[in-house]
Amino acid sequence: MAILEVKNVGKRFGGLQALGDVNLNIAENSCHAIIGPNGAGKSTLLNCLVGKLIPDTGSVMFDGQSVLGRKPYEINQMGISRVFQTPEIFGDLNVMENMMIPCFAKRDGAFRMHALESIGQERDIIAKAEEMLVDMKLIDKREMMASSMSRGDKRRLEIAMCLAQDPRLLLLDEPTAGMARADTNNTIDLLKQIKEERDITIAIIEHDMHVVFSLADRITVLAQGTPLVEDTPDKIKGHPKVREAYLGE
Ligand code: ADP
Ligand code: MG
Repeated sequence: MAILEVKNVGKRFGGLQALGDVNLNIAENSCHAIIGPNGAGKSTLLNCLVGKLIPDTGSVMFDGQSVLGRKPYEINQMGISRVFQTPEIFGDLNVMENMMIPCFAKRDGAFRMHALESIGQERDIIAKAEEMLVDMKLIDKREMMASSMSRGDKRRLEIAMCLAQDPRLLLLDEPTAGMARADTNNTIDLLKQIKEERDITIAIIEHDMHVVFSLADRITVLAQGTPLVEDTPDKIKGHPKVREAYLGE
């Protein structure tokens, strides 16, 4: 069953047709990769799914409900969480403090300002944040300033912060962009762990084919705003159109 159904989605920026006519189904509990050359419209598509952009045409259904016309925070509350191209963490807070923020947001519906002296009393929030840090193998770094972490750990923290909201669909836009190989491998392992241990669907935009082939159950190739082909990793690897349009052969 598809948890996300994208039908005939089009998006134009002035004279540029960034998305032509996108049809895409993402199966529940799968990992679905979206690949394609720079400027293919991958990020634009993702932005249409999370309410950052409103498509000109078409529909986007999440678990049978339309996301169109809803605000990003409402879509987030429906169960879609998104990891951005650059990690969105609070550099001048430590790891534990960062982790507490989505826990507050989940419990209270929105993040409120909490008086510093009262935060120590928030036992349920502290317990939830610690549990996530243990699970995501960040507990040893709980006192570390987020800004001083490695790129891989920043990404790990950001993904952990998304998961603390218990999303049903996790969207990632080039999570390993600009990473060294060790950090990339670290991120692959983390996403594999999430896939195995959680009841979650993952949609990932990714340039690095090693990452794509390590994780994806299905792959959609987007070229010039339109899906060119969708198939299993094995089929995609050998597909002549893909080799030509994407791998440059
Ligand atoms: P990708 O993520 O696949 O590299 P994008 O979705 O970022 O591609 O961009 C698709 C096309 O739309 C590109 O030509 C890009 O320059 C253009 N584009 C993206 N966002 C905007 C915007 N906000 N305004 C104008 N053009 C944009
Ligand atoms: Mg992009």
